[in-house]
Amino acid sequence: MTVVAIDGPAGTGKSSVSRGLARAMSARYLDTGAMYRIVTLAVLRAGIDLGDARAIADLDAAVTVGHDPDEDRAFLAGEDVSAEIRGDAVTKAVSAVSAVPAIRTRLVDMQRELASGGSDVVVEGRDIGTVVLPHADVKIFLTASAETRAKRRNDQNVAAGLPGDFEAVLADVRRRDHLDSTRAVSPLRAADDALVVDTSEMTEAEVIHHLLDLVQQRSGAVR
Ligand code: C5P
Repeated sequence: MTVVAIDGPAGTGKSSVSRGLARAMSARYLDTGAMYRIVTLAVLRAGIDLGDARAIADLDAAVTVGHDPDEDRAFLAGEDVSAEIRGDAVTKAVSAVSAVPAIRTRLVDMQRELASGGSDVVVEGRDIGTVVLPHADVKIFLTASAETRAKRRNDQNVAAGLPGDFEAVLADVRRRDHLDSTRAVSPLRAADDALVVDTSEMTEAEVIHHLLDLVQQRSGAVR
C-alpha cells in the first residue's frame, strides 16, 4: 500500500493534480478540504457566529466523503452537498471553522481512519504530511506564486460564467494564505521531508507526470 500526501495552498492546481495522480495510480483519493467545507456548511446553516469557537466545536456535523477520484461527492447528514460546499459562502467561512482545534482533532481522526483502508491512497490537504499522516510514503508540497494562483482561480471563475476580478481574487488568495499559515493549530507549511514542486510554469498534465515519476522513484509500488 502506497500513501501519498499532497499539501499546499489554494490555486496550485492541487485538487486536479491529486485526482489525476490517484487515477494514474488506480488509487483512492481523499479530499480533506471537502471535509472542512462540509463542517463549515453545517456551521452556516445552524446560524452560528464564526467567532464563536465554542459553538462551532459543539456542533456535531455528520461528514461523509467519497473516495473515487472521478466523483466529487460530499454529504452532510446524508444530503448531497457537493455543489454547495464549493460556493462563495463556504469558501469565505472555511478558514475560521478549520482553525477551531476540536474540529481539526475530529476530522484528523476521521482522515487517518479513511486513509488506512489497505489500498493505495492519495490524500490531499494542508497538513497531511506534517500532522495527519507523518509516515506517508511520499510527501509532496505544491507551491505557485500568489499571482499565478489568483490568475488560475480568476480564469476558473470566468469559465464558470462568474464576473472576473483579478485584484479581488488576489486579495482573497493572500488573505487565506495568511490565515492558513499563521493559525496556531496545524499551520500550512511543508513537512521537512516533503518534495516541494513549484507549479507556476507547469501545465496540469506536466505536474501529474512529474508526481507519478516521484511516486515511482520513492515507492516503486505503482503498477
Ligand atoms: O482545499 P480546499 O480549498 O477545499 O480547502 C478549504 C479550506 O479548508 C482551506 O482553506 C483550509 O482552511 C482548510 N483545510 C485545512 N486543512 C486541510 C484541508 C483544508 O485546514 N487538511
